[in-house]
Amino acid sequence: MDSKEKAKARVAAWNARNPGLSAARAKAWYVANKERAKARIIAWQKANPEKRAAHVRIDNAKRAEIKQAWRLANPECDQRYYEKNRDKYIANAQARYRRVHVDQRCTCCEVEMFAKVFAIAKSMAAEVDHIKPLALGGLHCCKNLQVLTKAEHRKKAIDDMRAIRRCRRDNSPRKSGEMLISEKV
Ligand SMILES: [Zn+2]
Repeated sequence: MDSKEKAKARVAAWNARNPGLSAARAKAWYVANKERAKARIIAWQKANPEKRAAHVRIDNAKRAEIKQAWRLANPECDQRYYEKNRDKYIANAQARYRRVHVDQRCTCCEVEMFAKVFAIAKSMAAEVDHIKPLALGGLHCCKNLQVLTKAEHRKKAIDDMRAIRRCRRDNSPRKSGEMLISEKV
């Protein structure tokens, strides 16, 4: 170990013994040398693009995790968000409803119920899925909706696409959505 490394090790040991003081010193140095600190960080980022990208990925994942945990712990805030943006959610639900083929719209659900399902999914950073896909004659009905994580939804979409292709290949007639939902529920 050369003298430089020895000095570094001594500083590290002192910092470990005095965490509060060392943090205060580091902060004071940062406040006094903001520009230098920023330049150092930028230089490091330029020299280590892969490491930097990894850090950003970890930070983003951590942030998403914290956000989701907070949302789950504070459901009343999601409720408030929904109340505040109710018109927006209902407008979206109506637009979604209009896009669905007439014979696949259910008659049992209020537009507000669809809006709520989508609001809940959004608050959990999740997605809404038609259990029985619309392309296979599933109904656009709350009984035929489920909230899935993005990963689960992607996985299910692959299965759904297979079923849809099989159905087209066999040229089998679409089963009634009503019938299939009663099978599911
Ligand atoms: Zn319905």
